[in-house]
Amino acid sequence: MQTEPEQALFADLDLPDALLRAIKQLGYESPSPIQGKSIPVLLEGKNIIGQAQTGTGKTAAFALPILANIDLKQTAPQALVLAPTRELAIQVAEAFQVYARHMKNFHVLPIYGGADMRGQLRALKRGAHVVVGTPGRILDHLGRKSLKLNELKTVVLDEADEMLRMGFIDDVDTILAETPETRQTALFSATMPDRIRQIAKRHVESPVHIKIKAKTAVVDTIEQAFLIINQGEKLDALTRYLDTEATEGVIIFVRTREATVTVAEKLNARGYIAAAINGDISQPIREKTIARLKKSQLDILVATDVAARGIDVERISHVINFDIPYDSEAYVHRIGRTGRAGRSGKALLFVQPRERRLLGIIEKDTKQKLNSWEKPSAKQMAEQRKTKLAEVLAAKLETNLPSVYHQWVEELCQQLELPAEQLAAALLSEQFTLEQLLPPPETKKPRREKNLRDGRGDRNERGSRTERGERKPRKPRREDNIALEKYRIEAGHNHGVQPKDIVGALANEAGIDREYIGRIELNDDHSLVGLPPGMPKDIFQLLQKVRVKGQPMRLSRTQAGNSDEPEPTKQAASPSTRKKPDAKTRSRKPKATEKDRPRRNKPAAKKKPQS
Ligand code: AMP
Repeated sequence: MQTEPEQALFADLDLPDALLRAIKQLGYESPSPIQGKSIPVLLEGKNIIGQAQTGTGKTAAFALPILANIDLKQTAPQALVLAPTRELAIQVAEAFQVYARHMKNFHVLPIYGGADMRGQLRALKRGAHVVVGTPGRILDHLGRKSLKLNELKTVVLDEADEMLRMGFIDDVDTILAETPETRQTALFSATMPDRIRQIAKRHVESPVHIKIKAKTAVVDTIEQAFLIINQGEKLDALTRYLDTEATEGVIIFVRTREATVTVAEKLNARGYIAAAINGDISQPIREKTIARLKKSQLDILVATDVAARGIDVERISHVINFDIPYDSEAYVHRIGRTGRAGRSGKALLFVQPRERRLLGIIEKDTKQKLNSWEKPSAKQMAEQRKTKLAEVLAAKLETNLPSVYHQWVEELCQQLELPAEQLAAALLSEQFTLEQLLPPPETKKPRREKNLRDGRGDRNERGSRTERGERKPRKPRREDNIALEKYRIEAGHNHGVQPKDIVGALANEAGIDREYIGRIELNDDHSLVGLPPGMPKDIFQLLQKVRVKGQPMRLSRTQAGNSDEPEPTKQAASPSTRKKPDAKTRSRKPKATEKDRPRRNKPAAKKKPQS
């Protein structure tokens, strides 16, 4: 049987009150494993090397101790975070802002390529306590002397292996050499390739190594599956799962207190019988709720890890990981709430595209491959409803209905002058919306829209890193048949340039989506690359100066004009292939979709006392 993991508390971490208040407001119930281990060490001023992926809570692991040590009166940068992409730089800066919401006059500045230089220069002049940036642009500012690092207390290398993969590691090396020797250094990386070890050896003195080792024995009577899904689509998938599975008791795991309440509310609005439990709810009430679950007065519990500790209810048939757990150990612990007392159970894991790596780690640690869950289509759902309704009606008709029902039908038919069939249809429409019975055909959302929907307002909905696992420049689709223009870059083999360096520079500094970057041909002193036609002037000018392996690109159009490769996508034809540099644009939350609105009519299937 699974042992309960030790649970630390934020209050034990010696963080200032202002930060503890912000954490409480965010609904974080307890530190994630990487936070529990890193925060005390960083607060002591030690250097660390942390092996952690996206989704483990590593941003707070370094942001909270940095904020705890900030001197608000000093305006020169006290902390520098280097990140591989502008999206991550913005996300990290936003996280700092959120954690520092009770620290008056705190300033964090994201600095990344592609954004207006003048704005950044002005902001740097005004002063920022923390700077978060991509290596290229930080180097640029160091060259212009617009960024001074002599007062730095802490440097963080976030996703160091990604910086390596994108060809920025030499820039990182150069930047680190410009920082005071007395600084504290934290290096976070999902993997530890040799080059990262070298960097660590050179720049991170006597580090404390932090790697979370997981205890990971899975009960083999639990059938497990996963679904890759964007945050905004989880609720719909959840209800489809609940509607198609023969569930008894269900526990849904989420990350925050708020999420326990909102998910439970949304499920109740859709006709399920759900309740939230989290650390804010008093122990007697929690116990009452669990007792209701045991007695089948309640079917679904929406819980945080802390609140669900130790729950041992035999009738839990399904565990749903609405938010992915921080690590394999938490996963094993969560799914162990089902399959109790020798019974079988099922577990579903929602994985946002950017969290794919965590899924891989869970599979590796638990030594098993999870199956991908096939989300039923709306049409299949409608069929399912019909089948369930038929079952419910058949069961009803078996138990001699009291005569008053028949009497009412007769009277209503007479009163309304309708045949019974029409009356039945009207009653059915009271139970189901038209959309539930006759769903519109499901259309795939275009990629770009997905990225925006997935936007950055809610840190759980960060979509722009969605494609990070597939960062290779995609071979443009020939069927789209739009010619790319061929450009020349004044850097090649002789400068030690590799295609990934060019892709990294074009994507990060000019905001050109990787998928629109065509074939790269490396020559000794220059390179050729296919890019979408209609490049805006400001981008063209910017790419004169952007450096690749220290070499200014000095981009120019080749005589040949069009690339010989017929390439890209429809969007590639327009200058809008640029990613939007405006953080606000991306942080807009998706509008509530039809699916998010509570339905007027509750689906009958859930009203059925099925369990
Ligand atoms: P990160 O790994 O830093 O990208 O964080 C992943 C997600 O976990 C973000 O949405 C954070 O807001 C969230 N998060 C971080 N720490 C906690 C915590 N202690 N409790 C709940 N959620 C957290």
